[in-house]
Amino acid sequence: MTATDPSTSHHLGIDLGGTNLKFAVVERTGNVWRTLEQGREATRAGGGPDAVVAQIGGMATAAVARWPGIVTVGVGVPGLYDPAHGTTRFLVNVPGDWAGRPVAGPVAAAVGVPVALINDARAFGLAELRLGAGRGASSLIGLTLGTGVGGVIAIDGRVHLGHDGTAGEIGHQTIDPDGPTCGCGNRGCVEAFARADRIAEACGTDDVEAAVAAARAGDEGALAGLRRVGTALGIGIANVIVVIAPDLVVIGGGVAAAGDLLLDPIRDELRRRVYTTALDRVEVVTAELGPWAGAIGAAIHGAESGEPGETAGGAAYADASGLGAADRTGETTRTAATTIG
Ligand SMILES: [Zn+2]
Repeated sequence: MTATDPSTSHHLGIDLGGTNLKFAVVERTGNVWRTLEQGREATRAGGGPDAVVAQIGGMATAAVARWPGIVTVGVGVPGLYDPAHGTTRFLVNVPGDWAGRPVAGPVAAAVGVPVALINDARAFGLAELRLGAGRGASSLIGLTLGTGVGGVIAIDGRVHLGHDGTAGEIGHQTIDPDGPTCGCGNRGCVEAFARADRIAEACGTDDVEAAVAAARAGDEGALAGLRRVGTALGIGIANVIVVIAPDLVVIGGGVAAAGDLLLDPIRDELRRRVYTTALDRVEVVTAELGPWAGAIGAAIHGAESGEPGETAGGAAYADASGLGAADRTGETTRTAATTIG
């Protein structure tokens, strides 16, 4: 601890998914984060964006009533958003027209504290970096393997968001110029080989859970499928390793339950392709926080938004006026940026 008393503060994170709306209340004391409460309810996706935004506001209002000390809210969204205006641009797996939909403003108006948006994969990476598998890492590559392939990079202790929050889309780099089509519009992306349905297809099973179970039971077809998926992931991860020389690669999502059956093919591919940095200093591990990483990371993002050093993709907050975005950099009364070892 430094000579300054670390102040304790509470922060709410909400993770919007097509199936579940999850929340986490986290406590920050200096550099130390812990989760106080977490929960979930079914997303009212059938009601369209208006119903979903109202549901997020209601969940936030209830959490703030239980924890009156909450000073920020972060909302993780499964897609693209506009950090300057607190609006969504395009969401995956949540029906309706989300283009230009205000989210941060209405939620801030409901709860009376600042609200910041973040992509759900970047939230996953931020949570793992601060209190999960990435604790103490300087630079990190994260992949969350689900319906799609979410990606995140952290550099020098901060998740890199880019100017619009889209940085880190490791899953949408081309690894085969003529490869299978990808939902993003490109072909041959990492995601086109490593999203859930393609993993199941590669393993000859109905879904990823069955693929993991078959591989664990020694099924040769499933093991070969996971090796092909691991090879594709390894090529994509190798490309990013040579660019940012991370300490750590964190793999999350359902198929991460395969453990070394998936990680070993990734490690093998890294050894075939990375010659510029010492691979014995790059660990490849599975994520620690499970399905709560998105909500926890959203809470941390809300807490850190507006701090000195926050990148442009996260600096903007919708303030409690609900009138849209206000860049709170310089307005915050919290002490200066956390130093992460
Ligand atoms: Zn793609």
